[in-house]
Amino acid sequence: MAPPDDPGTDATPPARAPRVTTAVLAAVVLLAGLGARAVLPAAVGGPAGDTLYATLAVLLVALVVRRPLPAALLGLVLCAAVEALQLTDLPGRAADAVPQARYVLGSTFHAPDLGWYALGAAVGWAALALAVPARRHERHTRSAPRRGRLALLLVPVVALGAAGGELAASMGAEADALAVAVADGEDALTGSEGRVDDESVRDAMAESLDDARAVLSATPVLERRPGAATRARERVADAADALLDSRHQFARSQANATRDALAEFTARGDTVLAATEGLGAPRAPREALRSALESADTALAAAAPTLLDAAELAEIEQITAELADGVPAVEQATTALMTAQDAVTCPEDDQLWFPGAGRLADDELAAIPWDPEYSVRADVLDGLVALDEAYRARFGEHLTINSAYRSYEQQVAVYNPADPNPLAAPPGCSNHGLGTAVDLGGGVQTFGSAQYEWLKAHAAEHGWTHPGWAEPDGRLPEAWHWQSVETPETY
Ligand SMILES: [Zn+2]
Repeated sequence: MAPPDDPGTDATPPARAPRVTTAVLAAVVLLAGLGARAVLPAAVGGPAGDTLYATLAVLLVALVVRRPLPAALLGLVLCAAVEALQLTDLPGRAADAVPQARYVLGSTFHAPDLGWYALGAAVGWAALALAVPARRHERHTRSAPRRGRLALLLVPVVALGAAGGELAASMGAEADALAVAVADGEDALTGSEGRVDDESVRDAMAESLDDARAVLSATPVLERRPGAATRARERVADAADALLDSRHQFARSQANATRDALAEFTARGDTVLAATEGLGAPRAPREALRSALESADTALAAAAPTLLDAAELAEIEQITAELADGVPAVEQATTALMTAQDAVTCPEDDQLWFPGAGRLADDELAAIPWDPEYSVRADVLDGLVALDEAYRARFGEHLTINSAYRSYEQQVAVYNPADPNPLAAPPGCSNHGLGTAVDLGGGVQTFGSAQYEWLKAHAAEHGWTHPGWAEPDGRLPEAWHWQSVETPETY
């Protein structure tokens, strides 16, 4: 008779997973893990690879420690230790020595990986628990199958936890990146005030920043969906690009306008420098102007349109600043030389030396319609014609023109330096040479005449005047000399 089962001998060895089964499972998991890394997109392949990595670790441990739970715990501890090692530079150094070490040791510490390792360990535990063979005393020793079911239940729980951790980490990273973009965007918005070609790009930037701040202040997951911060950051980035383009556009147009202004001043400076050649002006102001013109030429060369097109924003602003500095430098040096030349050439305070006096081009002059032998500067003709019409309405005849624009040669001809009280100014000093003065007859030439008094009362209505020096108590009383209010009185 067979001895009855003795419950007392039920203290059988604990459940163990067969080594062959464990080894086969380990091989399958290894291949699945490599496949997951290779085939799946990074967002999925990473966690899947981490999970299978831990499962593999548990199965390899189980080749030695064959009881499922201790093997799973030991495997998880090993994985966590490897992850913690990534906080040091050891994995980096190992990978430098043996590149394949990267597959075992990893590279960057990432806390949610621990969740995926826990999941992988749970999967390994479940697999080992299921691999434990059913035994005769099963009905008395239900602990192994129960552990298997518990392990299977744990798998989805740990999976959810790991996925949650991954989600929290990625949403946190998204929000951090958006916060940086918002801070940069705010700086860009402040720095662009009054410096954009199109003001609407600043409005668009402000709007995208408002949206981004709303996204940042929303509660993650409940109000802010994954990806929302990334989309907001892309909108801020697009607005920042448009803002930068507009700043570029504005800076280029500023540079062009400043370059044109400086070119105009250097052209005038060149003219003055050339015109003073040999006229006895002191050397110092001529050298100063020459030097200012050289600096300006350097700035102008750096601002060539092709160079501006290729330049970064900061470079363009630097170029513009140098051009802008050149404008007053050239202007002041030019005025200083003209003043020095005036002191040498024009004896009277009310006379001004101009390089272009007597040298106006034909298209700058206009013939006086009722006496076309004479001309004035084209832009003062209309006022003279209007004055003549009013004069004719009063006196029944045109203004009598005895002199108007005088060329340099004509001024040379009328100027008599030997005369102690010359009626004509030296060449370069007369506003007849500027085309803004006329000498009138027909009665005007006499102080107190009806014609003179009428002109005194009405010339200003048409932009003409009788200068102080030509008044009866002036330096050189000349009732006949009248000039446009456009005549410059200072440099
Ligand atoms: Zn005159």
